[in-house]
Parts: sequence; structure tokens; C-alpha cells
Amino acid sequence: MKWSYKIFQVAKIPIKIHLSFLLVLAILLYFLITSGFGSFLFSVFWIIAIFAVVIIHELTHSLVGKLFGYEVQDITLLPIGGMARMKEIPEKPLAEILVAVSGPMINVVIGVIGSIIFFILYGPDFFFDVDLENYTFSRMFISFNFIMAIFNLLPIFPMDGGRILRGFLALFLDYSKATHFAAEAGRVMAVILIIGAIFFKQFWLVLIGIFIFFGSKQEEQMYLLRHILSHYKVSDVYRKNVLSLKRTDLIFEIGESVVNSTQDYFPILDGEKVVGVITREAVFKAYYEGNLRQEIEALMSNDFVEINEDEDLFKVLMGMMEGKANLGIVYHAENFSGILTMREINNIYHLMKK
Ligand SMILES: [Zn+2]
Repeated sequence: MKWSYKIFQVAKIPIKIHLSFLLVLAILLYFLITSGFGSFLFSVFWIIAIFAVVIIHELTHSLVGKLFGYEVQDITLLPIGGMARMKEIPEKPLAEILVAVSGPMINVVIGVIGSIIFFILYGPDFFFDVDLENYTFSRMFISFNFIMAIFNLLPIFPMDGGRILRGFLALFLDYSKATHFAAEAGRVMAVILIIGAIFFKQFWLVLIGIFIFFGSKQEEQMYLLRHILSHYKVSDVYRKNVLSLKRTDLIFEIGESVVNSTQDYFPILDGEKVVGVITREAVFKAYYEGNLRQEIEALMSNDFVEINEDEDLFKVLMGMMEGKANLGIVYHAENFSGILTMREINNIYHLMKK
């Protein structure tokens, strides 16, 4: 995810923090300090405790996921809690329900054990003393855990409650339909949340509502992409009859063939290896600027990834997105055999979506 930075690693799972989560922590710290709730030290301590609870919540999802054989890619901390990304799709409803439930459950467990410990430490006063000045930290800690559990269990996709809803729907429906319904339900609830939050002037919740709205959209699209593309290999979709060029070609020699071709990228070959690419745009520009005798080598770039035609389409797409490359150069047994662009991926996606 954009704007996420790895902070550390637990059980081989990278823990990343999203910039917006840092912002939320900073705002929270500011509130705690200015509200006179406690000292600076108290506030920092409290923030660290929240941080730890959110990470424990996500780790629980991940570890339960591992039990069912899902590989965990990373955990990202977001204002709505956090997100554990799994490499495999949990298309087993029961497993998805259990993985989703485990997070809120660990909050309940922490809340209950915490209550017992504080009860032993402070006696019944911990629960019955009405003076809010007392036991502030411990009470906030316990409440935070229960609130987090309840909040996450709201049936809003992509939060845990939404996943539980999808898992439940998937017991009766096709997985894509279940995903669509759960995401739709999440968006409706997010809109209600945003309207309610504006009405009650809770800027905070407006932000969370917006996050949920787009989160559920992204989640649904990602699901569909993966669902559709995971049935294909690169060899099913890539473009095979490709016009390729040589380093020493001059603009005027290739101008006409480039104009007549529908390719956006032209690989430049040295033997069976691609040494660079030139875009249609670059050729046009040189052509119309009158640089007709320019060698195309001077205009070539290396903005591509090399892939094998046996690779899974979805994995390749993820790799291209992460490397911010729009072009894949496809090899068949060490030999250049074609190109793969977002155009081919889009075509198959839109064709199979309906
Ligand atoms: Zn969760």
C-alpha cells in the first residue's frame, strides 16, 4: 500500500505503518496532553499500549491464518485498526470466519484478563469508584480493548465483521457474490456513519467512514482482480506478434511501421535479449521534431520487468504494480517472445468480469 513504511518484523511478518495511522497517533497524543488527562509520559505510555494492542490483534489474525495455511504477506496499521494481508485468498468460508473472529476475540481476552488483574490489584473499587480521576490508565486500557472488539465486529467490509459477514454469505452463495454483497453493505454503513458523524460533528468518525468506504471498494476490486486473473497464466494473454527494433535503427526507418502498429511499447532487441524499450510517444516526438536520423538507442528506457510466459498473471500484475512498471517483457525459454501491458490485463479482466 502507498504511504506505508516497515517498522519491524514479528514471526517473519513485516509490520508496516501507514502515514495516516501516525497522523492519528499524533492527534491522539495532542488531545491526551492538552486535555490535561495526564502527563506527557502518561500519554506516550498510553499510545504505546494502544499500538501494542493493535499489533497483537493483527498478529492473531495472521497466526490463525497460518494455521489454515494462508501465507501472510504483511500487516499494515491503519486508522481503522490494521490490515493483515494474506497471499492466498481464503476462499474457505469457515476458515475466513475463524480468522476474522480471532482478532476481536483477542481484544476480549486481553480485556477480561486485564480486568481480573486490575481487580486483584485494586479491588472492587476499580469497577465501582465513580471518580474518573482514579485508575484512568487501566480503565482506558480495558475500555479500549472492548471498544476495539465491538468496532471491528461491525459488519462493515473490509473490517473483521464484514469478513465474517462475507464468510457467512459464502456458506450459501458464490464467493464473488458474497464479496459484492458484503462490500455493498459496508459502503451503505460507511455512508450512514459519515452522515451521522457530520450531524454530530465528529470529524474523527467522518475520516473513519471515508476510509471504510474506499477500503471496501479497493478490497472488492482487489478480490475480483485476483479471483479472475488467478485462472490465467501470462501465456494466455500476452501479445505475441510484436514489432521489435534494433539499437541502430534510425527514426525515419521505423517511423512508418510504428505509426501503423497498435503497440504502445517497442522492445529493442540484441539477439534474443531485450536491452531496452522505446515508447510510441518517443518515436512520434522525435519524428515530428525532425530528428529523423537519430538512432533509437538514445531514446530507449529500461522501464519494464522481465517475466516468463509460465508465470501466474495475478502475481505478475502485483509485481508490475509494486515495481511501478507498465510493461512486462515476456520470455519463453530464455528467448524474447512478446510483451504484456496493462491493456492485455484489462482486456481479460473486463471480458471475464461479467
Ligand atoms: Zn481485525
